[in-house]
Amino acid sequence: MSAASRRASRAVRVADKVIGGDAPILVQSMTNTDTEDAKATADQVAALARAGSEIVRITVNTIEAGRQVPEIRNRLEKMGVKVGLVGDFHFNGHKILAQAPECAVVLDKYRINPGNVGHGTKRDEQFSAMIEKAIEHSKPVRIGVNWGSLDPELLARLMDENAKLTQPLEADAVMREALVVSALESSAQAVKWGLPAERIILSCKVSHVQDLIKVYRDLASRCDYALHLGLTEAGMGSKGIVASTAAMGVLLQEGIGDTIRVSLTPEPNGDRTKEVIVAQEILQTMGLRSFTPMVSACPGCGRTTSTFFQELADRIQTYLRDQMPVWKAKYPGVEEMNVAVMGCVVNGPGESKLADIGISLPGSGEKPVAPVFVDGEKTVTLKGERIAEEFQAIVEEYVRTRYAVGSERAAKSPRKKTIAIQAVD
Ligand code: SF4
Repeated sequence: MSAASRRASRAVRVADKVIGGDAPILVQSMTNTDTEDAKATADQVAALARAGSEIVRITVNTIEAGRQVPEIRNRLEKMGVKVGLVGDFHFNGHKILAQAPECAVVLDKYRINPGNVGHGTKRDEQFSAMIEKAIEHSKPVRIGVNWGSLDPELLARLMDENAKLTQPLEADAVMREALVVSALESSAQAVKWGLPAERIILSCKVSHVQDLIKVYRDLASRCDYALHLGLTEAGMGSKGIVASTAAMGVLLQEGIGDTIRVSLTPEPNGDRTKEVIVAQEILQTMGLRSFTPMVSACPGCGRTTSTFFQELADRIQTYLRDQMPVWKAKYPGVEEMNVAVMGCVVNGPGESKLADIGISLPGSGEKPVAPVFVDGEKTVTLKGERIAEEFQAIVEEYVRTRYAVGSERAAKSPRKKTIAIQAVD
């Protein structure tokens, strides 16, 4: 089953990319460095961009952080990194944009949280000051509502209105409504002040999967703004990945979402780029975009006693990902190649034949040979100590001959590319 047709949304230009409309669903990420430390922040932005993040957000939480934004951009330019840079503003964004005016120019987009831009009469004043900066510099804005910092006055108003109903809604339903209303009312206000609707992106982030799905379905049906999708505080490790995938998978399947961010809590000293890889894998496994050749691997079972096939699968996946910065330009279409890694002959030959390239590794008690399948045909049987190296060389050769522009093989091969690795009986 393929995804439903994409919800129609307004296209918003952010640097050299477009969010919404017919544009591909973009991958975003956010740094966790101190933005006042320009070197550390630029280095992390560069790492995220190189991992495939098409837009990177940095917090701009102090005047000094705002002053460092041009230096961050300079450093990125020196490193040859071109990426959309978004400033994340909260309580004091109006002051930062006024007192560090260069940052307002250098950033490609502002994220404004309408729940914490001031209260009472100050709210309009501070929110409008930020919107005016966006208008002055022709910048797009994400109006990013968050469950944890929902506008308390708006929530109180909706709670009061709800209490007067003959059949009041549950409190969490009112909370969800408040999130959506906050985004819609804030965007209407921004448009009234002169920000074009084509420069507005909305998000309403919550930390529970079912709430996120309900909120975004509702938001999507009540406006045509481009939507930024993400579960806030998704969590650490497998929990964060599963929760983000479950929530975003449902919405993306319904055609909702123009850009995504996976908010993973990194392990201590963990790699921040993990959130980029997970976001790419969500989009690629759903068939919405292709970023890097995929390796499919069987889970292994009692038929395999060695970890060799796991190590080979990991080695090939890492190898393919590492090659992508060069391959992307040199071998167009290689990102659609698939690799399957299997554990034995039970499913191996079938998977390998369906794959672009497949290798069948020996299971326990099996002859220590590993047949390789290319484009559905068995081409060679590897054995000995250097199976991994030899298979990698076959993959490399395959990519070179299959995806090089103008290659004969590319013209001849209509099959979708998959590489399978399988253990034989
Ligand atoms: S392919 Fe073989 S090793 Fe892998 S899970 Fe299936 S039976 Fe087990």
